[in-house]
Amino acid sequence: MTGRQTVPASHQGVDELDFSVRLMEQLVVPTFVIDAGCRVIIWNRACERLTGIKAAEVIGTREHWRGFYDEPRPCLADLVALGRTGEIDALYVTHDHVGGEAAAAHGRKAENWCVMPRMGARLYLAVDAGPIYDSHGKVVAVVETLRDMTEQKEAQAELERLALRDGLTSVANRRSFDSTLNAEWRRATRESRALSLLMIDVDFFKLYNDTYGHQGGDECLRRVAGALSSVVKRSSDEVARYGGEEFAILLPTTDQPGACIVAERIRVAVEELAMPHARSAIADHVTISIGVASMAVSMQAVPTQLVGIADQALYRAKQQGRNRVATGDPVVAMGT
Ligand code: GH3
Ligand code: MG
Ligand code: MG
Repeated sequence: MTGRQTVPASHQGVDELDFSVRLMEQLVVPTFVIDAGCRVIIWNRACERLTGIKAAEVIGTREHWRGFYDEPRPCLADLVALGRTGEIDALYVTHDHVGGEAAAAHGRKAENWCVMPRMGARLYLAVDAGPIYDSHGKVVAVVETLRDMTEQKEAQAELERLALRDGLTSVANRRSFDSTLNAEWRRATRESRALSLLMIDVDFFKLYNDTYGHQGGDECLRRVAGALSSVVKRSSDEVARYGGEEFAILLPTTDQPGACIVAERIRVAVEELAMPHARSAIADHVTISIGVASMAVSMQAVPTQLVGIADQALYRAKQQGRNRVATGDPVVAMGT
């Protein structure tokens, strides 16, 4: 609320309740009020602006959900009015976890993505629903106030996204790779599914930098990352920059033969970029070597072993002449 809320002289003699209603209507915070039977009794101007729905359309009805969702569902005020606060968890992205009836008596806070059908815009709203009691302690109305948090939510999501991306190539960074590896390892063990890892290293990259300069090297890494991403299409697959000129690709639910097919496609995709590499000892263009490690379920192992095996396989690919795919022995993980 902004501005001072004082009772004007003209208020003298006007009914107290009527005056409160008019005050609430002018409140800059989007607010609506429902009675104990979930019928709308107040729908203020700011709420009209937020939802695109006029007060006259909803006052006296239980249709207030139309302002926020495209199909009937309870709003936070309904759950508070009906004493169904146990359902908040299922219906909202986040909410206050204050337990017990005493805490609930002061109302509830929650946040949610709303579809806002009338406005045609998806908004992230912070919602507050506070019950109003009569002298016997019975809920007679619930006041719901709303705050548009879309910009903050999107800025936060963008920051979180950036924190997990590599600045040069825009693929996932090492931090993201480590957490994805742990999560996928747990899932593969739990669900007895295959999991493969490709470790990719650009051949003679030091010589590439020496020949084309560090900026030329950076551009080469960006193009290699683009080629890797264009081959790997499943949403669960993650292409990451492991460090320097090394990339890692995690392939959930993919066994060793499948991973070798993907690895060979990647090797070919980088060759097809046809980036000149005048000082490479094995080709006249940029090439990569790939080590493949796969995990099969049933020896106690840890996720880093998968990285170790892929690394050894990569070393073998280099030893055998580079610009090739080499595999490591399967890592056998104990099912849980
Ligand atoms: P090999 O075929 O055995 O892999 O030889 P290599 O020269 O690629 O291997 P080495 O590991 O000796 O060299 C990697 C080079 O990658 C060294 C470093 O200067 C370069 N490098 C690492 N990170 C970056 C980067 O972000 N940008 C650029 N331009 N170069 C990088
Ligand atoms: Mg290297
Ligand atoms: Mg290299």
